[in-house]
Order: sequence, then structure tokens, then C-alpha cells
Amino acid sequence: MTKEKKKKVFQLVKGMKDILPEDEKYWSAVWEVVENLALKYGFGRIETPVLEMADLFARGTGSTTDIVEKEMYSFVDQAGEKLALRPEGTPGAVRSYIEHGLINLPQPVKLFYFCSMFRHDKPQAGRYRQFSQVGFEVIGDPEPVIDAQLINLAYQIYTSFQLQPSVQVNSIGCLECRPAYEQALKEHFKKDRNKLSEISRERLSKNVMRILDSKEEEDQPSIAKAPQQMDFLCEACQKHFMQVLEYLDDLQVPYFLNSRIVRGLDYYTRTTYELWLGEEEAGRQSSLGGGGRYDGLVELLGGRPTPASGFAIGVERLILQLKEHDLKGKERRKPEVFVAQLGNEARRKALGLYEELFKAGVLPVESFSKSGLKPQLEIADRLKVPYTVILGQKEIIDGTVLLREMSGGIQEVVPFNKIVPEVLRRLGKAEIVYNEKSETR
Ligand code: AMP
Repeated sequence: MTKEKKKKVFQLVKGMKDILPEDEKYWSAVWEVVENLALKYGFGRIETPVLEMADLFARGTGSTTDIVEKEMYSFVDQAGEKLALRPEGTPGAVRSYIEHGLINLPQPVKLFYFCSMFRHDKPQAGRYRQFSQVGFEVIGDPEPVIDAQLINLAYQIYTSFQLQPSVQVNSIGCLECRPAYEQALKEHFKKDRNKLSEISRERLSKNVMRILDSKEEEDQPSIAKAPQQMDFLCEACQKHFMQVLEYLDDLQVPYFLNSRIVRGLDYYTRTTYELWLGEEEAGRQSSLGGGGRYDGLVELLGGRPTPASGFAIGVERLILQLKEHDLKGKERRKPEVFVAQLGNEARRKALGLYEELFKAGVLPVESFSKSGLKPQLEIADRLKVPYTVILGQKEIIDGTVLLREMSGGIQEVVPFNKIVPEVLRRLGKAEIVYNEKSETR
């Protein structure tokens, strides 16, 4: 062994990613759209913890779902509690609704979240082990208009960016009418058992509807001939679904009926939907988001019977689309004036000037650790600021500053106490304030 230990260079954990400042404009743009839509439709923000009891997801999401069976990060903590990193947002939001007695508020309660999810999924483009979802949930209302409004909201997240997702809608019935459909599916797929993929053979006994969701080549002929859910919906579910579609027509949201949208989770009832990139899904990772009605979940998690509906979309997948379509995102405000200083005394004065400029509504930028003027002006050039204010020893003695116009290099001496209004005037900001005042005079 060598005496000196080899220095370890740490790397990202597999499936994780860093979000660097260059991507900030996309994240800010998504956040702005989501916040505006939340405001427009009256949703309040909820933030639940990353850690929950693992059982919340086993019960809520469903113990036979891929998420819980294969993908959930769960562990036993120092106190012996079995915890999990949240793999999806709905069970936490519902737990919170029950725990804080939100049922006592006027119903429905409308919640939205923007947070990280964790799934031990197979990493690839658009699929990570930590990713962000935006979710909207309406708890406490059984009406089909709620489902249609939520679909419209999900659709608008994309159309706000001039993206046109295709909305794939289905109804998977309720606890009354679904068992008969599941039975018919079982009988159908049992006949084809030997031709089905291994995973679908497994699902035959555990979660037969999930076979409809299969992307395996060998399952496709049998899926194409499978009984249709529509033929098994009870009268109430049929009526509910027809009304959802009518409202979507009224809202001018184009949609496709797709009997294969069963979603992977146990809690869905009636309306289910996904938003895809095109009419035909190229693979699981092209699903932008999805959701549906979950009328049984609140009761399943210990609350009073309470109907609910919601969706979640993947933020990384949306951002991939923004980049692919060359959409700009929300550009960060550009710095307007560089504050340069020469010598310790000037630096001390410049620190205060920086704060004053910002307070007055100017975005300043600086490099106070540098001492020479040349490197500071180089940075100012690189940042393309229109002006630089320069504080040197002479200016400190004279009580002035130099104001340099960067494009032509012209410099002017300005009294220190006049520099903020002068910068505002040059940037066209002072005039706005002046005009506003003069109008009210
Ligand atoms: P789900 O909760 O599985 O319905 O997922 C809703 C949306 O979250 C999907 O349509 C994706 O956009 C996104 N999503 C799901 N899993 C991942 C993942 N592993 N990486 C990135 N995005 C994901």
C-alpha cells in the first residue's frame, strides 16, 4: 500500500442529476407557468416531507404496483421505523388532508405541489431516480367537471409553452363495475397465457388490468383483442365519463379515447388520462404526465369517504421538450451596472453603493475581490453591462465617481451623491418614476 491514500473523486449517484445555473431559466419558466395556473384556478401550495411511512405508499399506491414492488427507496431508520423516500405525491397530500382535518374546510380542497420524487427506475434519457413532479389535486368533489378542469389544467401547462400534447382519456370504472371487467380480462388473457410475456403472465394473477399497459411485443396481439372496459361500465360510470368528455369539448381540449390508459396504480377509479408527445406513444419515457380520479383513497388511508381527482406531470420531461423545441425559458434579468473599485477605501464605499443601486431598482454586478481596474473592466465587458461606475482613490478624496459608458468608453465625473439617480436616468428608469409622479401632480 502506498503511504498516501489515493484521493477519491466523488461522482453523482447513479440516476441522479445536478441542475446547473445554465438550466435555471427553464425551471423558472415552468415554475412561473405553474404558479400562474394555480392562481388562476384557486389552488393552494402544499409541501409534504420527502420521508413518509413506507406503508403509506404500500397501502395508497398499492403493494403490487411497480413503484412499491420494485422502485421505492425504503429503509428502516435508527428507531426501527420503516420509511420511504416519496415516489409520488398523491398519498402524502391525502395523508396531510386527513391529518390536518382539511375536510372541515369548504370542499373541495384544491392543492398543488412542485417537488422531488424518488424511484429506483432504470436510468435513461428522461428517466431519473430523483426527478420533479408538478401535481394538482382536488379533494372532496365527485363531479365530472372537476376531472375535465384538471385535464384542461394539465393541458394548459404545455400549451403555455406552445407545446401540443395529445390527451389520452379512459374510464376504468368503479369498485361496482370493475370486478366484472377484470374477470372478463382474466378469462381472455388466460386463453393466451402461453403467448404472453413473463411480466404479463405474472400480472394475470396480481393485477390483470396492467397487462393492457404492457409495451412487450408479444403481448400486443392479445391486447388488441381484449374486452373493452366501455362495455362493462355501470350506468353511473358511463354517465360520469360522457360528462367528462362533454366538458372537454366545451373547454376545447382535444382528446383521444384510449382504453389502454389504466395507469399503474391501485387507487384510480373512473377517469384516467395521460398526456403524450404524439398520438402514438414511442415508449414509456415519452409520457409527459398523467392522472385520474381516486374516489377511494382518502378512506383507504384512514379518512372519511371522500371523492378526489388529480394529476402529476414530470418537470424534467417538460424541460427536455422546451430544449428540443428551442423554447427559451425565462431569461434571468441581465446586470445593468458594474461597480468597480480601486484600493481598500474605495472598496468599502463601493460595498454601500452596490446596496443602494439594488435598492433603487438597478441590478448591479461586482468583483470586489479584484484590485486592478483592467480585470474588472474585462468582466464588465464580458457581462455586456451598459455602464460601469468606478471608484478610485482620487474619487474618494473628491467625493465623486466615474461613470463609464461601456460601448464608447466615454467617462464622466459624477458627484457621489448624484450617482444613483444618474444611473437610473441613463437606464431610462428615473424618467418612468418622474413621469409617474408628474402625472399624479
Ligand atoms: P407517474 O407518477 O408514474 O404517473 O408519472 C407521472 C409523470 O412523471 C410521467 O409522465 C413522467 O413525466 C414523470 N416521471 C415518472 N417517472 C419518472 C422518472 N423516473 N424520471 C423522470 N420523470 C419521471
